[in-house]
Amino acid sequence: MIPSGAAGAGGMPPLELTGGSRVAVIGGGPAGSLSACFLLDLARQFGVSLRVDLYEPRDFTLTGPPGCNMCGGVISESLMQKMAAEGISLPREVLLDAIDSYVLHTDSGAVAIRPLHEEMRIASIFRGAGPMGAESQSPLPWSSFDHHLLEMARRQGALHIARRVRRLERCTDGRVRLHLQPSRQTEGADDASDPYDLVIGCVGLNGAGVKLFEEFDIGYRPPKSARAWVSELYMGAEEVRARLGNAMHIFLLDVPGMKFAALTPKGHYATFILLGEGVNEELASQVCHSRAIRELFPEGWETPVRPCHCMPRINVGPPTRPFGDRLVLVGDCASSRLYKDGIGAAYRMAKACAYTALTRGISAEAFRLGYWPACQEMDRDNRLGHLLFSMDGLLRHVPPFRRGMLQVIRDEQERSDDPRRMSSAMWDTFTGSSSYKEIFRRAGHPVILWRLLVATLGALLSGLAFWRGRGGTA
Ligand SMILES: Cc1cc2nc3c(=O)[nH]c(=O)nc-3n(C[C@H](O)[C@H](O)[C@H](O)COP(=O)(O)OP(=O)(O)OC[C@H]3O[C@@H](n4cnc5c(N)ncnc54)[C@H](O)[C@@H]3O)c2cc1C
Repeated sequence: MIPSGAAGAGGMPPLELTGGSRVAVIGGGPAGSLSACFLLDLARQFGVSLRVDLYEPRDFTLTGPPGCNMCGGVISESLMQKMAAEGISLPREVLLDAIDSYVLHTDSGAVAIRPLHEEMRIASIFRGAGPMGAESQSPLPWSSFDHHLLEMARRQGALHIARRVRRLERCTDGRVRLHLQPSRQTEGADDASDPYDLVIGCVGLNGAGVKLFEEFDIGYRPPKSARAWVSELYMGAEEVRARLGNAMHIFLLDVPGMKFAALTPKGHYATFILLGEGVNEELASQVCHSRAIRELFPEGWETPVRPCHCMPRINVGPPTRPFGDRLVLVGDCASSRLYKDGIGAAYRMAKACAYTALTRGISAEAFRLGYWPACQEMDRDNRLGHLLFSMDGLLRHVPPFRRGMLQVIRDEQERSDDPRRMSSAMWDTFTGSSSYKEIFRRAGHPVILWRLLVATLGALLSGLAFWRGRGGTA
């Protein structure tokens, strides 16, 4: 349905986007910039001229925390493919390292997982201009991913306003006015915008942005979130290449509280991320000093005294009602994918939001029918993701299973004619290339379950034989 553009009830502005409609996007991370791009592009296709203001106070050309939206910085292959298919190319200086394989490390050994198809590639990026201290390398050899997307939105016609929004107000005609944080120029005076026909909230989960919408009149509750850990560890480009290669290293270790950790090569740096429950400095240090991780660092290498690190929030649950009349939330502050491909999820949801706004309208009902089903589909799939990680959490503590799983993957990797179901399920779990439903389907294949059973029993028997050989003593 293309909206008719008819006036709303009682002379109120229509709950549709029509020529001259004003849209505010709050937050210029991936969800915000992509929402602005898709909205402007689709509006142009429908012959509707919109004004889109994009509020983002952060300067992504700065290094360290002020310029960074805090993440592991891996772009999934499905996102790279989708962007390429739509003519969105990421320039060389944004893409740091192409990642062509994963190495899975457990307490029982490691195995390299190569993708099924050679063209499957993922890349690492910096969200800002790089880690704190990187500014000493001038000119910087890379550029910010978020800055690139924001520039793309500007080229599409969005107006970037470098201000923080501190309050929303519903006008009597139903439209929404933004109150901005005072700047030096406004000298503390309340600075309110003209009313907007539609406000798209893309404020992420780090900071007070979600409060704007929680305190508003739409019944929104933010998704459940957990703290994660990110450190940028400087090693020098040669050491990074020699130690990590072009692989992302994933650690599924028997450490209480940890879901998984990863080391990703990024130019001169290795990005260390840790996900789990109750993540804190102590757990991060424990995992970082585990044998599996220390083995990858140069001998005698010590963690820098003050590495660039942060503890961002990650989305681990569904939101409540991320929409209302003239208001919708997109990206991490609404629905995302569990533990993977958050940027790809922002891309999908930004598209669903723009399409709904232009084809169904901007009422709560339009978003319920057009946008909410896309959120719910992702949230349903995440439930399977939770189940997968719970099963892994249990089985990881059983050494014969760990060894059995590594054996199954090793055997698959050695056979060129094997469909490599277990390897591809693992690959997709960490790259975000497939849904959790698809991963379950592949990993639950009878052939895989049989191979796992045989390999686990084999590992159990050889463990018993070894134990007996040592006279049954610990
Ligand atoms: C540890 C960790 C590792 C991750 N690794 C990856 C990965 O490797 N690959 C991947 O795809 N995803 C990853 N993610 C997820 C990814 O970071 C998020 O999904 C993604 O950043 C979501 O984008 P967003 O635009 O919704 O939010 P954000 O990127 O958080 O952007 C929100 C923006 O809103 C702005 N803002 C907030 N409040 C206001 C306000 N009041 N006024 C104006 N502006 C405001 C902020 O300045 C910010 O720029 C990871 C997440 C974590 C925590």
